[in-house]
Order: sequence, then structure tokens, then C-alpha cells
Amino acid sequence: YISNTSVKGGIRERTLIAVKPDGVQRRLVGQIIQRFEMRGFQLVGLKMLQVSEELLLQHYTSLCKKPFYPSLLQYMTSGPVVAMVWEGHNVVRSSRMLVGDTNPAEAPPGTIRGDFSIHISRNVIHASDSVEGAQKEIALWFQSSELIEWECCDHGNLY
Ligand code: GDP
Ligand code: MG
Repeated sequence: YISNTSVKGGIRERTLIAVKPDGVQRRLVGQIIQRFEMRGFQLVGLKMLQVSEELLLQHYTSLCKKPFYPSLLQYMTSGPVVAMVWEGHNVVRSSRMLVGDTNPAEAPPGTIRGDFSIHISRNVIHASDSVEGAQKEIALWFQSSELIEWECCDHGNLY
């Protein structure tokens, strides 16, 4: 789907958000979706899946040599994940701010991790950390046919 409509800062910028297994188990999916909707971002893809070892390795390639990778693999495959693609101006950076620091102890109240989690090993949610990373992650997690191009009726009030 990588096209000039998704360029950095464009209103069609996209990011991958995933509610991790602890977030699904704790019934946080609805509240998490609400925060992105409240902000004005647009949902363009959504599915529940059981993450495979292969997908996780491709998703977290840069972490595969870390000592915590085995526990990260166990965590991320321990139950279903809800994966989403959200779209909007600066959505990658804004989502990281909505989500909060990787370590929940550093995530301020008001952020998703700061409100719903305590420990780095159970931090509830994934958000892509760059526009380029988001494009790779979206292509890894979603078929292009699973992403919906649509215009929200309140576009004129947001932009
Ligand atoms: P993120 O982009 O904020 O999710 O953080 P990273 O890309 O650095 O790490 C990916 C995920 O690996 C984090 O969200 C955590 O779930 C996990 N993780 C990172 N660092 C640690 C760690 O030191 N210990 C454990 N147990 N998990 C970690
Ligand atoms: Mg990351």
C-alpha cells in the first residue's frame, strides 16, 4: 500500500497499533480504541490474531538477540492480539505519545501505558516508532486488501 498518500506528516500517514495479549485479557481493547477515536484518528484496518513465532521474529528482528527475547516471545504468543492500522496527520508520533514510554514507570498518567500498566514486560500495547517502521510493520501484519480507504464525514472539522 506504500504510496505517496502515506508520506510523513500527510493526513494519510499510517501506523500499526496492537493490543498485546495482556491488554486483550484485561478487556482493554474498547478503551484503547476509544482513545484513538477521541483524538480524531481514523481506523483503516482491524483484526484479532494469534501471533506466530515467525511473525514475531520479523516484527522484533532488532530485539532477537536481547536477553529478554524468549520472555517477549512467550508473552506475545500467550494469547490473541488485536492489531489495528490508524491513519491521520502525524499519527506515528502522536500515537507514541498516546501510548507512553516503553517502561510504564516512565509513562505519565493519561497515557495508555501510564494508566493501565506497571511493568515493561506487560505494557499492554504496541505502536510503530517511525513512519518507515510503520510501513514495514503494516505490510507484515496486514494484506493490502484488509486496509480500507474511506473518508470520514468529519474530515472538514479535523483538517
Ligand atoms: P516499544 O516500541 O515502546 O514497544 O519498545 P521496544 O521496541 O524497545 O521493545 C519492544 C517490546 O519489548 C516492549 O514494548 C516490551 O514489551 C519488550 N521489552 C523491551 N525492553 C524490555 C525489557 O528490558 N524487558 C522485558 N521483559 N521486555 C522488554
Ligand atoms: Mg518498538
